[in-house]
Amino acid sequence: MQVKKFLIAQTPEELAQWCKDSGFPGFRAKQLQQWIREKMVIEPEKMLNIPALLRQKLREDFYAPSMKIAEKAASSDGVTKLLLELYDGEHIEMAIIPAGDGRVTFCLSTQVGCPVGCRFCASGKNGLKRNLHTGEILEEFLLGCGYLGRRCDNIVFMGIGEGLLNCNELFPALEMLSSQTGFCFAPRRITVSTSGYIPGMQKFADLQKEYTLAVSLHAPDEETRAKIIPDPLRFPIKDILSAVDTYREKAGRMVTLEYTLLAGINDSDAQAEALGRLAFAHHAKVNLIPYNSTGNDFRRPSRERIESFEKHALATGAVVTRRMERGSGKNAACGQLRIKAESEKK
Ligand code: SAH
Ligand code: SF4
Repeated sequence: MQVKKFLIAQTPEELAQWCKDSGFPGFRAKQLQQWIREKMVIEPEKMLNIPALLRQKLREDFYAPSMKIAEKAASSDGVTKLLLELYDGEHIEMAIIPAGDGRVTFCLSTQVGCPVGCRFCASGKNGLKRNLHTGEILEEFLLGCGYLGRRCDNIVFMGIGEGLLNCNELFPALEMLSSQTGFCFAPRRITVSTSGYIPGMQKFADLQKEYTLAVSLHAPDEETRAKIIPDPLRFPIKDILSAVDTYREKAGRMVTLEYTLLAGINDSDAQAEALGRLAFAHHAKVNLIPYNSTGNDFRRPSRERIESFEKHALATGAVVTRRMERGSGKNAACGQLRIKAESEKK
């Protein structure tokens, strides 16, 4: 399939060049830039001050947009999940998550499927289909803003996929989101979550930008971690923690260690203490995520167990937070809407 370019991913220079090559005057590129960056509109038919001929040429040369909302799922806690259909019929998900203080976080995907295949996660169930393009990642953001009626306050790449296995497309998207000629989004308000893919963590640190890094540790020891994350994309904990140190030093940002709590697997008080000690030693925060069932063999620990785990981790002096239990209804865990859509397609 011939893949077109994505209008939203065009830099100001690329737009100017395209206008020139297509025989339109330079000020048109500036107008397009205003529509895209300031008004956040990419559909040529909505660009009222652009002549019909130029709008037609835009439609011919670019995806604008490349995706559409295939399904919306709202849960009682205010989270809205959007199932998005891509230009090639594949699906991804994004979530719009309001916080109590009025702020809104977008949770975005980076890949169609995921090659890591963590055993509890719906996103990795059928492996990786393909990487998302820079333009598709940016369109998720744009589509979310359109749906919300304003820009979000935070962006977390915690949807489908392992973003640091798609650095080539993700990093230009981060740059476009945060740069002054792009969407001027504060880098600190953008979080990339990784399963601990070390080569990607190193490249991310080399950007030396103040993006936030979250690492899904899920276990304080190798034996437990091996029950959760399969080979070959599982890296040794000690190497992950030294990549965490490098990130903190190069980006100047404290790293978050995510820990999905699975009953009987990684939820003992001894594991909580071991986790707290690791986090404290590496100046990292811990974020506990009670497991959302995706219909596999794992279970969420009881409320008492989660509280005891949190207490024992806190006792080590580490900073520990717990993800609000939200979106815990049907299809709440990321990747589930997509799996459903895929099986309906067949
Ligand atoms: N691939 C990256 C980012 C996407 S997953 C990563 O693994 O970090 C984002 C977070 O959601 C991870 O911490 C993951 O462990 C968690 N997660 C995925 N499915 C979940 C589920 N069913 N219940 C609770 N947490 C889940
Ligand atoms: Fe992939 Fe993250 Fe899911 Fe693991 S938890 S399968 S790395 S999306």
